[in-house]
This record gives sequence, C-alpha cells and structure tokens, in this order.
Amino acid sequence: LRIISCAHESKLADQNQNHGDILLKNITAIDAINGVRRQQSILIAGEKIVYVGEANTATANRVIDGSGKFLIPGLWDAHVHLTFEPALDDAMFNLLLANGITSVRDTGGQIDKVLAWKQKSKSSLAPDVYIAGPLIDGKPGVYLGNEPDFPAIGVETDSAEQVVALVDQLANSGVDLLKAYEMLSPRAYKALLERAAYHQLPVTGHVPLSMTPTQVSDQGLHSMEHLRNLEMECSSKADELFTQRRAMLLNPQNKPGSKLRSDIHKAQHFKGAVSLDEMRCNRLIATLVKNQTWQIPTLMLMAYLKYPYFADPQWLKTFEFLPEPLKSNWTEEARNYSVIVDWKMNMVKKFAKAGVPIMAGTDMPIFFLTPGYSLHKELEVLVLAGLSAMQAIEAATINPAKYFAKDHEMGSIDEDKVADLVLLNANPLTDISNTQAIEMVFRKGVTLSLRLFERKSLTLKATVNV
Ligand SMILES: [Zn+2]
Repeated sequence: LRIISCAHESKLADQNQNHGDILLKNITAIDAINGVRRQQSILIAGEKIVYVGEANTATANRVIDGSGKFLIPGLWDAHVHLTFEPALDDAMFNLLLANGITSVRDTGGQIDKVLAWKQKSKSSLAPDVYIAGPLIDGKPGVYLGNEPDFPAIGVETDSAEQVVALVDQLANSGVDLLKAYEMLSPRAYKALLERAAYHQLPVTGHVPLSMTPTQVSDQGLHSMEHLRNLEMECSSKADELFTQRRAMLLNPQNKPGSKLRSDIHKAQHFKGAVSLDEMRCNRLIATLVKNQTWQIPTLMLMAYLKYPYFADPQWLKTFEFLPEPLKSNWTEEARNYSVIVDWKMNMVKKFAKAGVPIMAGTDMPIFFLTPGYSLHKELEVLVLAGLSAMQAIEAATINPAKYFAKDHEMGSIDEDKVADLVLLNANPLTDISNTQAIEMVFRKGVTLSLRLFERKSLTLKATVNV
C-alpha cells in the first residue's frame, strides 16, 4: 500500500485559535527540550502544531484520545545511504515512515541520484532528505565502483584545487552538507573545510588516515561518523601507530584505495582499541566538547559482532577442536572484534557524560540494516552503551535538527513547530524499545495509521487515514 503519494489534505486552521484539524487529548508528551508533560492537549492545524498545553477548550475536526499513550517528535536516521541498494527504491520511504522516521541525513551517494531522492521527498509525505552528495576522497579513492562492495559513491581528487572545485560544484547543486573521506591529504582536507565554510555548509567525515581527530576537530570538521579512526589518538601507542600509518599511506605496492584502507584498519584498529590511555582519551574528549564536534557512532553496525555466537564464551570453547593455525587465527579475530566493540560502547558512554553531542544514525541499508527498523535498534544499543532513554531520543530528534540549524522549526513538541510526531502505546523512557510500539505517525499534519508488521508475518501494512 502506498502511503507517500496520498494527497495532502491541508485544512487551514479556523479563525478561532483554539480550533484545528487534529486534537490529541490526555496525551503524555515526551521530548528532549520539555521533558515529560502529562495530560496534554496538542492541537494540529495544517502542517503545524498550534497549541500544546493543559487547556481543554481546544476543538478540532478530529479528536484522538491519547489516554495511556505517549507522543514523541518525528525521528531522524542521521546516517543513511538511500541510493546504496536500488532494489529498495520502492520500499524505502514507506519503511522509514512506518517506523516514525520523518527526516534522514544521507551521508554519501552519487549527486544526481541523491538529488532525485531529495526532490521526491518534497512532493510527498516522504521523510525530509538532507544530502551530502558523494564522498569527497583523496588518491587512491575508496568507493570508486571498481570493485565489488565498493560502489561508485565517492569522487577521487588529486589536489586541494580539485577539492575546492568539487565543493563549489556540490554547493551549487544544492547539497545540505559535505562528506570528507579517509584518503584526503591534510592540505586537501583543510581546503575542503575552508571552502565549505565559505558556502556555509557543515562537513561530516571519517577522520582522514593522514590526520588526527584533534587536528580535524580544531580545523572545523562538524561531525565524525562511526567513531572511525579515533582509537589511535586515545592509544598509549599513538606515536608508533601514526608512524606506521604514514608509511602504509605511501602505498609502495600501489594497492587500490579500498584495499589500502582496509589493510590499515586491520593493522591498527585492534592495537589502538586495546591500548586505551585514559589521559590521552580525556584530552581528545575535551577537544570534541570544546569544538562541539558531533559524533554519529552507528553502533548497530559493530554491535552485531558482539552478541552473536562468536562472542559467546561457550562457543569460543569449540575453537579448541580446530587445527592450528586456524584455532589461533579465529580466537584472535573473534577477540579483536569484541575489543573494538567494547571500545566503541565505552567511548559513547564517555561522550554522553562529557557532553560531546551525539546523533543517532545507522548506515542503513549496509550490512542487513533494514530501513527504519534499524534506527530503533540503534537507539537500543545507544542506551546499552550508557545513554539515558531521553538522551537516545534527543540523539534522534532535536540533535539532528540543531545540526542543520532547524531546531526552531522541528525536533520537539512545541507550538509553531512542524507536526511530525510519533504516537506510542508504551513509555519509551521506561524501556527505549517502546519507540517501536508505534500506533500512528503524524507527518506534516497527516495521520498515518500504521499497523506495523507483525513480527511473524514480516509484512508491512500501512494505510492512510486522513
Ligand atoms: Zn555510511
């Protein structure tokens, strides 16, 4: 069933300030700005919230009794790749909407394709789409479409001048942010940040392999994805690791970018994570707080490694029966994965405590991350890492709005803000998995009555109920 192409029935509010299209009564409103407000009346007119309060005088064309229910702002998935899997084209927006996701931040795709998605979202109830365009990479580039699993979502640049020209071109195309990638040189990275500032575009990125997180944070990188390449700076072996990395980056064997990058990660991730130096780490965290450098940890992407059989000590005992050197190799690799996941979970906890701003994002649909559903799993893992349920909600609502300087118009349940809302049957603050107990989604003032998929049938049933 199609929910995104339905006509938007936008009735203007009556002259009477207290009359609107939809009135939610007796609801518990939850958001990161106002906290918990019980017994609220929330009035929606057109695409906006026009009243929030305890008054019972408001009237509307449609009244919904919210007794025993909870209302949160529309959610964001702050790290998606809409164009990564073309087979999802038709299902993408429905899956997101059905899960209460009303805005997404696309962190890498071919510019013409992501622009088309952005356009598509404007003329329907589909989630708002914020785009970065392609990954701006150095030489050799990683995502050039030359190898399987590395589609052409990146652009390889050879000089700072080329980077500046590309930034100008992307800014003119209408991107909302830029994505800086791992193989950029320090000179090119600096040029990118300066040119982005000229165009007033935020820049997100992986910390480039040629630089430290402190360097890029101090130079003005707005956000870092996946906690990638942060472990080196927190390591007691940072100097040694950085020297090794520099030598590998010279690429004497002329490896393709994807291979060179993964070889560097393999050689260094575990070593960095296992040699955490608290003092160094605190220094980095202080820098991230000072510069308010956003973090999008995308924990789901790694956390899956932590909980399956190969992280289970009982299962690891079965390795005893394997011949060498397989036994040692498997044991080591399984342990390395666990160490890296623990490092990430620990880091997110430290960030939340110190005040490093965090956004909830998934990297969907990469690695089995079903659009929409995966964001709710990310919220669960963020809470597992140490965020409070409210902090997790904040990371998926007001924080991404702040990132794009849209927090005056979205991200909380306030008058004059857009009526993107999610009605829940259970309290997300007592258990964050209750963000999945969705009864209804409000998008631009239209109610989407959704019967989310019954876990057994795996079918999505969505109907419009205007
Ligand atoms: Zn990504």
